[in-house]
Formats: sequence, structure tokens, C-alpha cells
Amino acid sequence: MKVLVDRGKCQGYGNCVVAEPRVFDLHDDGLVELLVDEPPEELRAQVKHAVRDCPARALGLGD
Ligand code: SF4
Repeated sequence: MKVLVDRGKCQGYGNCVVAEPRVFDLHDDGLVELLVDEPPEELRAQVKHAVRDCPARALGLGD
């Protein structure tokens, strides 16, 4: 599972961090920072949740 992030779209709402703090964090500039490029399969549900919850549609899921 690969997480796709478009920092150009991120608005720093932090929903992704709440959904899965082992994968997403907020960088010093206030925008999303990916902690793990390819999270383990057991985190798929939480990562999908984060992708759905991003109001800026800045996140995606590759395979
Ligand atoms: S939920 Fe979306 S807009 Fe908010 S910090 Fe995460 S990637 Fe950025």
C-alpha cells in the first residue's frame, strides 16, 4: 500500500493525523508530513479513513 500526498493541496486541517498518527504528522510549516511512505497492510483501514477525511482531497491511496 502506497500513500500519495499532494502537499500543494493540504490546508493543514490535521484530520489525517487524528485518523492515523503512525502515518501522518504535521510538519513545522503546518502541512502534512508523511511518516511512512508504504504503511503495513494492517493500517489500511485507518489510512483509507484518513484519505476519506481529508477536506482538501490532498491524500490518495496507491497499491
Ligand atoms: S487532512 Fe488533508 S488537509 Fe488536513 S493535514 Fe491532512 S492532508 Fe492536510
